[in-house]
Amino acid sequence: MGKRARSEPDRETAEALDQYRALEASGARNALETLRRENRELESLVNDASGLLSLSGIPEMLDFAITRFLDRFIPVFLAFLIEPPRGGRIRQYCFRSLKPVDESVPVRYYRILKGLFLEDARPRTFEEVRRALGESSFGRDFLSYEPEYILPMRGIGGLYGILLLGRKIAGAEYTLPERMYVDRLSRFLSIGIQNGLHHESSITDPKTGLFNHDYFMRRVEDELARSARHGSRAGLILVDVDHFKRFNDTFGHLAGDEVLQVLSRVLRAATRSEDTVARFGGEEFSALILECDEIHLAEVAERIRSAVEGMRVPYKGKILAITVSLGARMLDARDRRGSRDLLDDADRALYASKAAGRNRATIHRTGLLGRASILRLSREKAG
Ligand code: GH3
Ligand code: MG
Ligand code: MG
Repeated sequence: MGKRARSEPDRETAEALDQYRALEASGARNALETLRRENRELESLVNDASGLLSLSGIPEMLDFAITRFLDRFIPVFLAFLIEPPRGGRIRQYCFRSLKPVDESVPVRYYRILKGLFLEDARPRTFEEVRRALGESSFGRDFLSYEPEYILPMRGIGGLYGILLLGRKIAGAEYTLPERMYVDRLSRFLSIGIQNGLHHESSITDPKTGLFNHDYFMRRVEDELARSARHGSRAGLILVDVDHFKRFNDTFGHLAGDEVLQVLSRVLRAATRSEDTVARFGGEEFSALILECDEIHLAEVAERIRSAVEGMRVPYKGKILAITVSLGARMLDARDRRGSRDLLDDADRALYASKAAGRNRATIHRTGLLGRASILRLSREKAG
């Protein structure tokens, strides 16, 4: 009795099985699987990178990177150490179990690691770093972060920061795919953060950290446009330090600088975070107060005046104090005047405060009486 001939589908299955076994024996199937996995990794990296580069602020970018890491691993400690473009203090963003914490790695370690990465910018395990720099380069104050993997942050102009990963909460070492992911994402993160830093420094005043004049004017233009469309209401305040030339002559320019910095903090504290406070130039400041009416604007101006009057600045054994004069005006798109004209009005109100004896706020009233109805807000000072 002959065997029954194999049916057509049976034969096809058997052939497929043979081919499959041959593929597996040659290792091609594994290679294919690896390629597929790599492809998926790269695709998710491209998504992550484009997501990252579409964000505008540095905290947002760090948050984003952190959530991406969270999908893969959780380091006990993680720190971004970043050199701002204009010099000054190293900025630190530290995380424990991927939650922000207020800690800072001693800055000398940044310098040491920077030296190493300047020679060769490859990311390194801490073991490699330790071998390259010697046991004695790192004290308890660094080892306590349990560093495992360290990467340089590079952008235009070279190295400007370091990413430090502590050991994983789950104990095991970082796997090769994990390190590859961090290497790759950190290159995009480096570009994003550097863009963010340059954007920040292009809109801020280096001495006070407040926004600069150009940015303030742009915000006023934006607000005017918004007010024309939506009828939103905002106000402008100009602040000028009284007799500051005399102050400098008496206490010195550096004492003046110190006072301007404290004044900047007072201005920030007297306004809301969504308001824009700028150094308008020299010893003049400006504030764009959102969602306000004339009464609220006058209150903010008076709050600033009185906060500055109460300000005391210890400096080289002396206690320094200043006063300011203010001029304010509502932004009003309805009278179709440009931002320059509106600022001129606020400036005239400021001048009225000066003329009336300083340390006071004046609000420019719009409407029929216009300039004639400049209202003096502050109480008259005796003497
Ligand atoms: P007024 O009450 O009329 O405003 O008198 P004032 O002396 O403040 O006005 P004036 O415009 O004559 O002088 C402004 C002074 O502010 C002169 C300038 O040296 C000083 N100033 C401007 N920018 C800075 C700064 O960044 N640091 C210091 N220390 N002084 C500054
Ligand atoms: Mg001035
Ligand atoms: Mg002045």
